[in-house]
Amino acid sequence: MSSIAVPHDSVLTTQLQKVVNWARRSSLWPMPFATACCGIELMATASSRYDIARFGAEAMRFSPRQADLMIVAGRVAIKMLPVLQRIYQQMTEPKWVISMGACASTGGVFDTYAVVQGVDQFIPVDVYVPGCPPRPEQLLEGVMAIQRIVDQDGIPPRGPDGKRRPLQIAIQPTHDVRPQPVPLTVGPR
Ligand code: SF4
Repeated sequence: MSSIAVPHDSVLTTQLQKVVNWARRSSLWPMPFATACCGIELMATASSRYDIARFGAEAMRFSPRQADLMIVAGRVAIKMLPVLQRIYQQMTEPKWVISMGACASTGGVFDTYAVVQGVDQFIPVDVYVPGCPPRPEQLLEGVMAIQRIVDQDGIPPRGPDGKRRPLQIAIQPTHDVRPQPVPLTVGPR
């Protein structure tokens, strides 16, 4: 009986990991670190039209101990950096990070000493969502990328030194930009 029980247990463990990954990817709890205009798009993503609840990620948490997905939406001032890092440290493991928009990823147009020129210099970013601001669909692409990571790996990778290794996946734009400038519709006809 024992010779049968061992392979049975190993199969069960593999399947259990899949179930755990499925549960994790279906119940991401975001920590919205929204500091500027990208935060408005983040709110729109949670609204009925885009409905982030379809992906199980609607439970925004403002206590880091109840969150496992940090979404940095907007520029981060140097003064805010210690707060960002502390919140990241206090979040539960395993945890992931989305950098939403040009400002969070690079500082955007704010090329100044007072603004962090990319949060990935200070916390491990897993997914970059491009745009200024990114549309809600684009952020949803980022959430789905995190879900795929969780599906495949479950636990975020760590380097030989034990430090968290950022996955640094860049999302491609999903919509066609309209030619600018658009024709004016005001004035005498
Ligand atoms: S990327 Fe654009 S929309 Fe987002 S915070 Fe920066 S300026 Fe605002």
